[in-house]
Order: sequence, then structure tokens, then C-alpha cells
Amino acid sequence: MTATCLMSTYQPLALSFVRGLGTRLWDERGREYLDAVAGVAVTNVGHSHPRLVAAISEQAGLLLHTSNLYSIDWQEQLARKLTGLAGMDRAFFNNSGAEANETALKLARLYAWHKGIEKPLVVVMDNAFHGRTLGTLSASDGPAVRLGFNSLPGDFVKVPFGDLPALNKVCQTYGHRITAVLMEPIQGESGVQLAPPGYLKTVRDICSRRGWLLMLDEIQTGMGRTGQWFAFQHEGIVPDVMTLAKGLGNGIPIGACLARGKAAELFTPGSHGSTFGGNPLACRVGCTVVDIVQDQNLLENARRQGERLLAGLRATLSEHPDVLAIRGKGLMIGIELIRPLPNLTAIAAQQHGLLLNVTRGKTIRLLPPLTINEQEVDAIVLGVCRTLASCTGWSLPSLQTEALASPVMHEEMCG
Ligand code: PLP
Repeated sequence: MTATCLMSTYQPLALSFVRGLGTRLWDERGREYLDAVAGVAVTNVGHSHPRLVAAISEQAGLLLHTSNLYSIDWQEQLARKLTGLAGMDRAFFNNSGAEANETALKLARLYAWHKGIEKPLVVVMDNAFHGRTLGTLSASDGPAVRLGFNSLPGDFVKVPFGDLPALNKVCQTYGHRITAVLMEPIQGESGVQLAPPGYLKTVRDICSRRGWLLMLDEIQTGMGRTGQWFAFQHEGIVPDVMTLAKGLGNGIPIGACLARGKAAELFTPGSHGSTFGGNPLACRVGCTVVDIVQDQNLLENARRQGERLLAGLRATLSEHPDVLAIRGKGLMIGIELIRPLPNLTAIAAQQHGLLLNVTRGKTIRLLPPLTINEQEVDAIVLGVCRTLASCTGWSLPSLQTEALASPVMHEEMCG
């Protein structure tokens, strides 16, 4: 292989794909893989969905970009769909998750400015991940992503995720300066961490009582991933601001910041903008993704298959000496190991034809497309078991399925 001209931000596997369909990917040699990564929670309706292929092809032949100097009908349509689904009032479109969170952080600043708060603070969570721009990096945690980037913008106060006494303490110390709470409903990058029951609802109550904006980062959890359109809908609450990206475009870059009430009225012409954000292609794709999730009943499928996946993993892996915890919601599942296992993702792909992700060193993260069927769920369980057996010498429990050996095609889920 020739030397790369790319900056060393990633350490990719020596594996490259040339084609995808539904839950499957094919490499350069024609080998098929079952995809339990979905481009990190992006290709929620599967690869090369025929309705998306048609929408993208048609739109490419009609119009890709005009800029926000002109009104864009697909942008209006997508804003209407998303605000309707989320119970929000207005949307702003970006190109990525980090930009959507930057938009939310700017709303928090404007909100404070209108209230006359001179040095506003946003409460964020330990182990959060909100992006890689300087602003979102400040709101994120973890030495690996922050190391070397000193003098990050300040104005954040961190509390442990799920810890109400810590939040109450921060209220007492900084209450008059706080303008918003920014958090993921389920922390994805830090290993699929779920908050204790009732936590989000209590944070919502605190924000309402104190006049703070509750800003939820649904970039990974949103668009049906957890079995509801947005993870906050499991809790019976509505945030003031919400951000989306990843699954909204199924691979076409798009981000969105949605807001309601006062937060939806803060921007004025010139106070925020984007050249590419909200272009006809990205917004038509977003509209088509929403339609597919609705028409194929993918929220219900994510719930059903997520329960099957969690149950299958728990039944087969709970006795494994390296497995510390198995947790998740819908099709966002983490298997926390007691130690990092070297080459785990390479072994899963090369030896077992399964694509999976490991986050924070020792949590296997499963994020398959929401179109996945029962046989494919069983194939993931078997593939994870076989991978752990290969990595640790553990002897595999006898399993009912041979699904990985004979991959199930899934055309019915694409149509
Ligand atoms: N927020 C969350 C919860 C994420 O998981 C991510 C990406 O993994 C981001 C923000 C950043 O999104 P992007 O990489 O599109 O900027």
C-alpha cells in the first residue's frame, strides 16, 4: 500500500467497501459483511435504499444548491415534518452534528444575553460527546479528544451524568449564571450509558423551574434509533432545543437544531447562517428518510429487534468472564468488557463477517440499521459470541442459529 496523504486522525481497518444494500456491505474482493455499525448510527434505513437512490438521483438532475439567499421548499417541508414529530416550533439546518450543537450553544448565549446574564454558563455532563469544533469540544469530555487543545472556550460547568445531587449543588453555586443544560439522553460515545429512571424528567423540571433551556443532543439517539423518533419521547418530556444529524441524512451530510418557545425566536437575520446548510438535496433526503421510517414502521421494528438483540446477548454472554454489562435501548446497545480486547473489530470483520464498533476502548457498540430482521439480529448475537470466543479462548455456548453461515438477504426490508 502506498503512503497515505491523509492526516492521521483515524486508524481505519485494512478494509474498504465498494457496495452496500440494506444491512450488508461488500468489500473490494466481493466478500459480504453484516453491518452492525451503520456508519456510526447513520445509515438507519439501510444502504442504498431504493427510495433514497431515486430521490437523490432525481434531485441531482433538478437542483443541488441555491444558497439560503432564496427560499428552499424542501427545507420548509423538512422543518415542518421534524417540528411536528418533535413538538418543536422551528428548525435551522447545518451540515453536521457538531455544527448543530454549535447552533444550540449560540442559542444558549443569545438567551442569556436577552436575560442580561453577563457570564453565562451551560451545564454539561461528564463523559459527554458533542463534537470536534472548539465549542463542542469544550462541552465534551475525555482526554483523548481534548488533549493538546488548550484554551478551549470556557463557560461550561460539568456534572456527573445521572447525578441529581451534583446538579442541585451546581444550581446552588452557579444558579444565577446558568442559562442551559446540554446533554445526550443516552451517552453514545462513552459506551451507551443510560441515565437512571426519572433523571431526564427531573432535569426537565429543574430547567423549567429555573428558566434554563433544556438542550438535548439527539444526534446519535434520534431518528428512531432507540425505538421512538427521539429518545426524550420515552420519558414523556419535551426539550427546549434539540439537535439532530447522523440518521437524518442516512449518509448525506445534514444537521439540524430544533427549538420551541422563546428559544425558537432568538435568531434574527444575520445572527447565524450556513452556505450549504439546508440545501435542496440534503433536505429532500431528510424528508425521504422520515417517510421511509414511517412507511416501513421502523420505530416498532427498532423496539422489537432491539429487545431481541438485548435478550439474545444477555442469554448467551452474561456468563462470559470478560463481560461486565450489557445495556441499551432500541437498536443502540453496548456490551461493556472488563478490559480492552486487542483487534476485536478486525477479528469480527475478518473471521466472522460482522462489522461492529468499540468505543472508549472496551465497550462493543452495536448500532445496526433499523431495517434489520430477526435472522440478522440472531446473526449479530452469534457473530459477537464467536468474536469473543476468538479473542478470549472462551468456549461458545451452543446456539440455535446458523444465520451468519448463511446470510439472510433482506430485499423485503428495502422495498
Ligand atoms: N453529538 C453526538 C451525541 C455524537 O454522537 C456525535 C458524533 O458522534 C456528534 C455530536 C458530532 O457529530 P458530527 O461528527 O456529525 O459533527
